[in-house]
Amino acid sequence: MTTPPQDGMPTTRGMNFFRADRNLAFVCESVMAPDVLERARPELDAMGATAGGELDALAADADRNPPALRAFDAGGRRVDEVVFHPAYREMERLAFCRFGLAAMSHREGVLGWPGRVPHVVKYTLSYLFAQAEFGILCPVSVTDSTSRMLRWFGSDELKARYLPGLTATTPEALRQGTQWMTERTGGSDVGASTTRACRDADGTWRLHGEKWFCSNANADMAVTLARPEGGAAGTSGLAMFLVPRLLPDGTRNAWTINRLKDKLGSRSMATGEVTYAGAVAYPVGDLARGFKQMMEMVNVSRLSNAMRAAGIMRRCVLESVVHARGRAAFGKALVELPLLRASLLEMLLDAEAAASVVLHAAAALDRADGGSAPDRALVRVLTPLAKFWITYRARAVAGDAMSVRGGNGYIEEWPNGRLLRDAHLGAIWEGTSSVVALDVQRAILKDGGLDALAGYARERLATVRVPAAAAWARDVGTGFDDLRRRADAWATSDDAARELDARPAAERLYHLFATSLLLAEGQRLASARRSARKLLAAGLYARRWLGATDTPVFSPAALRWLDALVDWGEVPEGALADAR
Ligand SMILES: Cc1cc2nc3c(=O)[nH]c(=O)nc-3n(C[C@H](O)[C@H](O)[C@H](O)COP(=O)(O)OP(=O)(O)OC[C@H]3O[C@@H](n4cnc5c(N)ncnc54)[C@H](O)[C@@H]3O)c2cc1C
Repeated sequence: MTTPPQDGMPTTRGMNFFRADRNLAFVCESVMAPDVLERARPELDAMGATAGGELDALAADADRNPPALRAFDAGGRRVDEVVFHPAYREMERLAFCRFGLAAMSHREGVLGWPGRVPHVVKYTLSYLFAQAEFGILCPVSVTDSTSRMLRWFGSDELKARYLPGLTATTPEALRQGTQWMTERTGGSDVGASTTRACRDADGTWRLHGEKWFCSNANADMAVTLARPEGGAAGTSGLAMFLVPRLLPDGTRNAWTINRLKDKLGSRSMATGEVTYAGAVAYPVGDLARGFKQMMEMVNVSRLSNAMRAAGIMRRCVLESVVHARGRAAFGKALVELPLLRASLLEMLLDAEAAASVVLHAAAALDRADGGSAPDRALVRVLTPLAKFWITYRARAVAGDAMSVRGGNGYIEEWPNGRLLRDAHLGAIWEGTSSVVALDVQRAILKDGGLDALAGYARERLATVRVPAAAAWARDVGTGFDDLRRRADAWATSDDAARELDARPAAERLYHLFATSLLLAEGQRLASARRSARKLLAAGLYARRWLGATDTPVFSPAALRWLDALVDWGEVPEGALADAR
């Protein structure tokens, strides 16, 4: 990481976010095969440069100039157009066309890749993108997952008609997807949905109802849920449909955008309220399994959300370190002040843990899609777990980063305000923190989630041999045993007691899992390069999140290592004693 001149107003402008992140390059070595990483590296480098320069400037512009609804044309005819600032259109070009983020999992040859680009590469590129722009990654993610749904469940006719546009990488050919479930009656309780699906005499399905939160409101097609007439109450009666904005003959389908939401964050992207007034809809997959199919889509969106929150955390670390090194108070650089140092260290540990968790989940998704049953079980629980903690924690990290920048952090010319506003959304949509914690609990109770996570973690813990770290690895193993006993007790506890344990248990599980990954990566670094840098991070993370203490979390001795952690400087094995 380069230190900017000490003019008291340092910025990260123009930095390459990939080159500035030694940790990311190292984690990539853990989750990608060497040939995959070598092929990905030039694109990661290009994305790092784009995110730190052009994209960041566009994101600031688009955030200041949110989209507007043009409901009618000059002649009073309904057009339901969303008008975007040119900066957003340019970000669309970067995300969908230059980097092909929505297409790369579904079409061969994107970025010149032989075959399809692995999820883990897509998530790493998107993690860098998210450090500059959050809003447009929703349209990218839902377009990507619309293709996934069509490929998994769609008829040959739907695939042939819509996949080419969804996976196009030119602005002219590109067609975007989206995913609309939430109604006024509720987002968590999707089973309360009231949108009806009726069938004409000729077999055409038509939807009637309102969707209350419709992100990517300008999309060309929406994957949506509706209840076929006479269907059961609750989620079991919901079917999945694809609703195009334009019908095959080019005329507009019967959906109207009633208005756009005035949002706290994610302001570059349009979220609206939509009425289906007899809109033509095509069934996707098994009508009786609509909600279950939709949960597949929601799950990849949740992982994407965790990735975006991890990216926000990393940007916060970068902003804060650059600021603290480039500004002085009381005759010292801010970075030398113990309390500020402790804050930076905490952010760095949170961000590194999040990066590891997200990229391991992405690699597991690749293996699951390749047919691995254990990885499918792992993804089932790891996705809500990552979404639960990382999006929740990103809010606090973004708040701390704002404080590190002091008054300027509160001023919209600096990126902190946008990071904080965007961070808050991750913990609400695609399931609030409580709702996804309950899903983690369900994955443990019904789908063997704890065994899947603990098994994956224990394989990694078993690799840890450096003595001080091996003791931490044993403690983490014991932590998983304790959680097993705790989860077993849920079988006999009453509903309220069990639900009340969902969040604390998920939090503990996340930290045990994250520490396992950090320890294993630390051992790999220690073996390959004789550096205890990453083991130290693992030990400090465990002290922060697994230790019970009301004394200062980090000792002065631990804080001495902050610069070595930031810069990947020399960390001898003896330093591990300072993490205790
Ligand atoms: C900017 C934005 C964009 C969005 N875009 C989309 C979109 O494109 N498509 C879409 O379908 N949805 C979208 N949403 C909707 C979003 O997914 C929902 O807002 C979210 O799932 C919560 O639903 P709700 O707003 O109805 O809140 P509610 O479900 O009413 O929840 C209110 C509170 O009750 C709590 N709660 C609910 N159930 C439980 C429980 N069982 N136990 C404990 N607590 C519980 C929640 O945690 C929350 O704190 C968007 C939301 C926002 C803010």
